[in-house]
Amino acid sequence: MPAPDPFGIELSDEDPRTVLFHTWMCGNRKHRRRRAAQINKNLRTPFGWACPVCGEPVPLQRRADAVYCRPSCKKKAKRLRGPVV
Ligand SMILES: [Zn+2]
Repeated sequence: MPAPDPFGIELSDEDPRTVLFHTWMCGNRKHRRRRAAQINKNLRTPFGWACPVCGEPVPLQRRADAVYCRPSCKKKAKRLRGPVV
């Protein structure tokens, strides 16, 4: 699945736990708004939006439902879980 538009949202200058979304005409404004709202929810959890494997913050270019910071962390977590029986 392709990554979301990296320029559709940006981090707020005033609050580092807030992202703002652009309301330009290309793309789907409603999707961008919902993505920004979900990312804000992720950023405001007690530990922020951090990868559970390495603890690094998840880049804002990732999908709003991303858990891991990069595919290698996702694969590491999958190997730790072991095979599905
Ligand atoms: Zn990671």
